[in-house]
Amino acid sequence: MSKKIQAIRGMNDLLPKDSDLWTFVERTIADLFNAYGYKNIRTPVVEKTDTFCRAIGKATDIVEKEMYSWKDSNGDLLSLRPEGTAGCVRMMIEHNLPREGIQKVFYQGAMFRRERPQKGRYRQFHQVGLEVFGASDAKIDSELIMITHSLWKKLGLKNITLEINTLGSAAARASYRQILIDYFSMHKDQLDEDSLRRLEINPLRILDSKNNDMQALINNAPKLIEHLDGASAEHFEQFKSYLNCLNIDFVINTRLVRGLDYYNRTVFEWTTTDLGAQNTICAGGRYDDLVEKMGGKSTDAVGLAIGLERLILLLEEQNVQISNHKLTVYIMAMGNEAQFKSMQIANAIHDAVSNISIYNDISLGSFKSQFKKADKAGADFALIIGEQELNNNQVSIKPLKSQDEQQTLSLDEAIKYLKECR
Ligand code: ATP
Ligand code: MG
Repeated sequence: MSKKIQAIRGMNDLLPKDSDLWTFVERTIADLFNAYGYKNIRTPVVEKTDTFCRAIGKATDIVEKEMYSWKDSNGDLLSLRPEGTAGCVRMMIEHNLPREGIQKVFYQGAMFRRERPQKGRYRQFHQVGLEVFGASDAKIDSELIMITHSLWKKLGLKNITLEINTLGSAAARASYRQILIDYFSMHKDQLDEDSLRRLEINPLRILDSKNNDMQALINNAPKLIEHLDGASAEHFEQFKSYLNCLNIDFVINTRLVRGLDYYNRTVFEWTTTDLGAQNTICAGGRYDDLVEKMGGKSTDAVGLAIGLERLILLLEEQNVQISNHKLTVYIMAMGNEAQFKSMQIANAIHDAVSNISIYNDISLGSFKSQFKKADKAGADFALIIGEQELNNNQVSIKPLKSQDEQQTLSLDEAIKYLKECR
C-alpha cells in the first residue's frame, strides 16, 4: 500500500464543519472595514525576498529564521509572505497611490512562517490587516483601535485587553538604544543566548523576551517612554485622549516593542488571557519611515493585523454562538419527473427569494431518509414534491422546527410564504 498523503505540519485545512464560523468572521470583518471606508486590496503571496528583508528588518525572528525562501530558476530570491504590510507598502509605492491622497486599505490572506507549530501558532495562518497611508494624526491611530474594539463587540468576544506603548521618533529610539545597550551590557551574565545576540543588533527586542529568568532584569531596564522626543510624547497624549473619549480602556505596557523593526510612535496589541501563551489576537502600530525606506516618497503610515486562527480559537473558547443562520429549505423529490421539477423549483426560489439556503436532495432515497438528511442540514422547511404535488402543480411545505401544519401550495404561494418567514 502506498504511504498516506498528509498535509504539512502547521498548515491546516478548513473543514466543512468550521466553515460557517470562518465565513461569519470574515464577513463581519469585511463589512465593518468597508463601513469605515477601507478598500479591500490583494497582493501576491510571493514577493522578492528583499521586499520583506527591507520592510521587516534583518534582526527579527521572521527574517532571521521564519521565512520560506528559495532561489527561483532565474536566480531571483523569492519568499512566501510572512506578513502583509511589506507587500502592501510595495504596492503603494509601485502604483504611486499615496500621491492620490490618504489611502485606507485592508487585506486578508494566508501568511507563512517557519515556526514551531502549537495551539494558536501555525506555519500557514491567516491575517486580516488594516493600513492607512498619508495620515499622521493620532486620530487615525485611534480609529484603528475603535474599529477593532467594535469588531470584538460585533463578534461577541470578551476578556480582551488593549495594551499600548509609544516607540517615539527614530532619533529618540537611537539614543534610547544606546542607553539600553549600556544597561544590558552591565548585566551580560543574566542575558540568554538570543538576547546576547540582540544586544548589538536590536537591543529593543530584548524587552520582548519571554524568558522567565530575565523578567526582573527587563522590568528594571530604563524605559523608552522616559526618553521620548516632545512631538512623540504629544502624539501619545493625543492618542490616549481619543481612547478616553471613546471610553476604550487600555493599559500602558512600556515593554511592548513589537517584533518588527519598522514601528515608531504608537504600538499596540489586543491580548486575551483565554488562549494561553499565544495571547495576542491583534497587533499594530505606526511606521512613518517605512515607505521612504522602501524607496517611496516619505509617507506617514499606521496599520494592524488580526490573526484569524486565534480569533476563531477565542470564539470557540468563549463558546460564542454565531447568528448567521439563513432560512434553509431542503427540497425532497420522489420519482424521476419530480427530480427534474425539484431542480426547476430550487432555481425559481433562488430567483425570487434572496438570502435563502436551498439543499437539493441528492441521496435519492426514501422520503424517510430524505427527512433525516433535512434535519442534519439544519433545514427550517422541507419542501416536498411527490406524485400528488406533481400532478396538481403544487408543493408541500413542512416546517421542521415548529409544530406548524404542513401545507400544500402553488409554487407562487410557497415563495410568498418563504419570503414572509425570512
Ligand atoms: P507572536 O508574538 O505571537 O509571535 P507576532 O508579533 O509574531 O506574534 P505579528 O507579526 O504582529 O505577530 O502578527 C499579528 C498577529 O498575527 C498576531 O498577533 C497573531 O494573532 C497572528 N500570528 C502571528 N504569527 C502567527 C502564527 N505563526 N500562527 C497564527 N497566528 C499568528
Ligand atoms: Mg512571532
